[in-house]
Amino acid sequence: MSDKMKAIIEQSLGQLMEDDTFLPHLQEDKRKRAHDSLVSILSTPNHIIKSFLRISLENGRITRIPAFRVQHNNTLGPYKGGIRFHESVNEDEVVNLAKLMTLKNALHDVPFGGGKGGVVINPRKYSEAELNLICKKYVHYFSDSLGTEKDIPAPDIGTGEREMDWMMAEFKSIHPGETYRGSFTGKSVLNGGSLGRREATGKGVYYTYRYLLHDFIKENINLMNNHKNKPFVQTALQHHDGPLTIAIQGFGNVGSVVALEAYQCVHLQNKVVAVSDRNVTLYNSDGLDIPALISYSNKHEGDLPTTEGQLKEHNIKATIKDRDGLLTSNVDVLFLAALEDQIHRDNCQDIKAQVIVEGANSPVTEEAGRFLSNKGIVIIPDILANAGGVIVSYLEWLQGRDTQFYTEEQVYELLHQKMKTTFESVFPPFFSNTLPLRETCYTHAVMKLSTILYRQGKLY
Ligand code: NAD
Repeated sequence: MSDKMKAIIEQSLGQLMEDDTFLPHLQEDKRKRAHDSLVSILSTPNHIIKSFLRISLENGRITRIPAFRVQHNNTLGPYKGGIRFHESVNEDEVVNLAKLMTLKNALHDVPFGGGKGGVVINPRKYSEAELNLICKKYVHYFSDSLGTEKDIPAPDIGTGEREMDWMMAEFKSIHPGETYRGSFTGKSVLNGGSLGRREATGKGVYYTYRYLLHDFIKENINLMNNHKNKPFVQTALQHHDGPLTIAIQGFGNVGSVVALEAYQCVHLQNKVVAVSDRNVTLYNSDGLDIPALISYSNKHEGDLPTTEGQLKEHNIKATIKDRDGLLTSNVDVLFLAALEDQIHRDNCQDIKAQVIVEGANSPVTEEAGRFLSNKGIVIIPDILANAGGVIVSYLEWLQGRDTQFYTEEQVYELLHQKMKTTFESVFPPFFSNTLPLRETCYTHAVMKLSTILYRQGKLY
């Protein structure tokens, strides 16, 4: 991921100099200086904070666990970004995810900066009491840097509302008398979390796809005449001839919600033919029974059925296939909602989908992305598609400050409105220039940040 982020940010900044709407009133030498300042600001985080959490395990042993909080940029508001519990967490990864948050918030006009946290553990190897202690220690060690107006963490891989509830409670104990409901988002509803937060990312991911393939392409038929040779435009225009076939990698918070949205959608005729998780791919050319699979996974720690016996017992019609075979299955649309770097140099030639949607962060490597874009396949990038979580986190933060709560319908309505505003700003330039959608989004985000930084007098 690190090379890809760096390359795209550099490319987007390079684009700015070609763009005559970038600080147009400045003379060329001042414009160049402002551009160079921007490169320095965006390529380095404001703070990298690292600690070793001292944890007393249930077996009596003391262990020290590496933990990070990276605060990349707070031009637009308090730092904001999830805390990941995973064995592969490292400083570079956290820095890059924090950069992505700065740009994602800028793209979607969310008044937050970019931050990210990580703890180097496999949470499945710790008891609930040990995880509680790790969460408390995380807040304790980083407490001076966190807070409603400073830096607001949220869940990420390996963390959820339970961990956010624990962390908020610890923050409240450490800072008596301070406002605390907005110090963490992704909390349980009972503890001030927002209705709809768990579904927000998956709903936003699905909405991005629906908006591009249904609303935008259909409403701009004349513009599409110039793009009829692009396979994804053909796929959208010909879709009334039959349903769009869909495969979804990952069946967790994001993937299962995408699957249900696709299954229930009345705007597009979809058929979800394949879903996968960490163990297995399930396939059915007539379409999978998504509600039955969700019900199964809710009762089985988030996992899909892996044996014929389990499928039969739950009356689910599907063929069990190799887990990674899903990526190259013969479908129109591929949603990636599991991990990073899933489509790469060695498998990109075998991808059959014409539309790829990044629910996960960075599931397509830079090289694979270039290869697929050159073939006319559209990749709806993470920065655009998976912002639903941070948008509803923003709504949660607002609700926490006002202690006024929105209904679930209001949350989804506000989420869709915000994302639609972003789509209206990036899809027209995407169709009128030659840049892939990812670069179009990054350029847009960088342009917004540069204008604000300039007006704040930070580019001198
Ligand atoms: P999750 O832990 O709920 O689900 C992950 C899913 O991926 C599980 O079904 C798991 O079995 C599956 N998986 C793991 N390894 C796999 C593999 N090799 N092949 C296929 N499936 C595999 O996580 P989530 O919250 O759904 O997040 C998914 C991705 O989306 C992550 O990369 C996360 O960073 C990103 N994301 C999540 C949110 C959010 O709000 N949840 C927001 C933005 C980005």
